[in-house]
Amino acid sequence: MLWQDLPLDLQQRLLTASLGARAHSHSPYSRYAVGAAILDDEGRVHVGANIENAAYPQGWCAEATALGAMVMAGGRRARAVLVSGPGPDIITPCGGCRQKLREFGAADLLIIAADPGGIRQHWTLEQLLPFSFGPEHLNKP
Ligand code: ZN
Repeated sequence: MLWQDLPLDLQQRLLTASLGARAHSHSPYSRYAVGAAILDDEGRVHVGANIENAAYPQGWCAEATALGAMVMAGGRRARAVLVSGPGPDIITPCGGCRQKLREFGAADLLIIAADPGGIRQHWTLEQLLPFSFGPEHLNKP
């Protein structure tokens, strides 16, 4: 989905959902709360936050939580994802999450960065994960 195809009201809906999810972050170690809101191809929004663990590597990212929520709701195609952090630095999905998003998003999956002050920047998945490996490499549509 192209940035110009995402109406202002939908941008606002994703921003509100992501910041709302961010408030549920379990991040007592990093104190870096992250929220994610995924728009699926049916127009539904699925949210998640980062969930840390005392055994550090066992924690996971907000995008992973939101993808899990989407899959459990029956969604399989993501059109846009809005990730929100504390700011002021622009947040981007980590490498692992870029690959996780690749499983459920096309090259034009819209990735939007935000913080409590609003939307800061946007990219396509192709821009953040060029020459990527995906389901079609295994002949899985
Ligand atoms: Zn991540």
